[in-house]
Amino acid sequence: MKIIMLGAPGAGKGTQAKMIAEKYGVPHISTGDIFRANIKNGTELGMEAKKYMDQGLLVPDELTVKILLDRVANEDCKNGYVLDGFPRTIPQAEVLDKALTELGDKIDYAIDVDVPDENIVKRMGGRRACLSCGATYHIEHVPPKSEGICDKCGQELVLRDDDKPETVKNRLNVYHEQTQPLIEFYTKKGVLKAVDGTVDMKDVFAAIVEILG
Ligand SMILES: [Zn+2]
Repeated sequence: MKIIMLGAPGAGKGTQAKMIAEKYGVPHISTGDIFRANIKNGTELGMEAKKYMDQGLLVPDELTVKILLDRVANEDCKNGYVLDGFPRTIPQAEVLDKALTELGDKIDYAIDVDVPDENIVKRMGGRRACLSCGATYHIEHVPPKSEGICDKCGQELVLRDDDKPETVKNRLNVYHEQTQPLIEFYTKKGVLKAVDGTVDMKDVFAAIVEILG
């Protein structure tokens, strides 16, 4: 099974991707990880990508897809894979679709973990982090024993810039503009499956398992 994960940043799709990978024994592939691996190993594709990155340029979609196809050609992907964080735009989805079609291949499922913006802003806004030891908390779901203080090292907890409502809203706007059109793209291909991402992550996963069988 070849799966693409869709959903807003903070919807929990990475967690679900990991759980799918574990249950079905397929690799969880994030483009960030494969870029780093290719660059670290000095592969030809990695060096080509690095040329763009060193100049502060975006890696062209064609090259990203090449790197991705190189990864999924590995033996461990013979039963499928879960793509997390790619494609993010319609042009990327089109390049991927074309490349897979040329290989006589296709994506089987695009799973949309659906969470309304206001839930995401609230979820992220409740996060607290200890900058000293890296421990993370949530004021509702994983509260520290004493408010605002790290259980592990006693330092003060903070709301990270990344989790602040302003930042989260900006990321959500980018998502709606660039990534949400993929929902229509994969609906047209007949592979889109939406799950309610507002419930407990175990229940989100149960809904996904029902779809995948
Ligand atoms: Zn700490």
